[in-house]
Amino acid sequence: FAVRYDRFKDENAQDVGIIMILQDITERQKLENMQTDFVANVSHELKTPLTTIKSYTETLLDGHVDDKETETQFLGIIDAEADRMNRLVKELLQLSRMEYKQEKWNKKESNLISLLKSVVTKVEITAKNKNQHMNCIFDESQKIMAVIDRDGIEQVLLNVLSNAIKYTQEGGRIDIDALRKDRWAQIIVTDNGIGIPEKELSRVFERFFRVDKARSRAMGGTGLGLAISKQIVEEHKGTIEIESKEGRGAKVTVTLPLSHARGIKDIV
Ligand code: ADP
Repeated sequence: FAVRYDRFKDENAQDVGIIMILQDITERQKLENMQTDFVANVSHELKTPLTTIKSYTETLLDGHVDDKETETQFLGIIDAEADRMNRLVKELLQLSRMEYKQEKWNKKESNLISLLKSVVTKVEITAKNKNQHMNCIFDESQKIMAVIDRDGIEQVLLNVLSNAIKYTQEGGRIDIDALRKDRWAQIIVTDNGIGIPEKELSRVFERFFRVDKARSRAMGGTGLGLAISKQIVEEHKGTIEIESKEGRGAKVTVTLPLSHARGIKDIV
């Protein structure tokens, strides 16, 4: 509580007492703590790749590396870390634009099935390289129409599918389904990967939260993907949920409202 005192005056401006104001600042304090944590997280996340870039560059500049192969390997690391910083800054700016309602959405009626198919095609090669089986369970000829910003929802689906691939071992399995449920469209991605411990499950949509920081970083993750996805989906009046058991894979469900026209047609 914050405590404040004020003079209490009568109509002749004479002091007649003192008012004590007790203000519950729990919420404000919480917000301030969140902001401080966020700044600390951002600084840390930016410093980590910078430190790596700096140390590899210094080693190269010192002339201690005399074989071409190591030199190329070091340059590759520097390049990857610079890419990650770039992604991080881009994602942070996107989050801030969404927060301040500055993001420009271009919502149009679109077929979620064709969007999903194109996203699957984009990530298929990564799954193949890990010998994973991607199974599209949905009927590819059907149409599930929703009013969406295609780029935004593509980003969500890319993130969910990339996570399924990233957090599933070689030879694992990823099932992708899309269906209509009442007035909603659902896209469900199920993997049989490493899963998430129950106590961490509610935190995966927080900015920078990762179950295993080192693993996520090693895979190029920024820890912002699900936080951004949640904002985008909520901007579409939808939801994104994750269910998981540690060691037993994860199931992510993205739910979006079906477009009105389609909804009415379905009912008739
Ligand atoms: P990252 O860039 O770390 O992948 P995300 O915001 O996309 O960030 O995800 C946050 C964290 O949630 C990940 O670091 C990982 O620990 C966990 N996670 C997300 N998807 C899955 C999944 N399919 N299986 C297991 N863990 C997952």
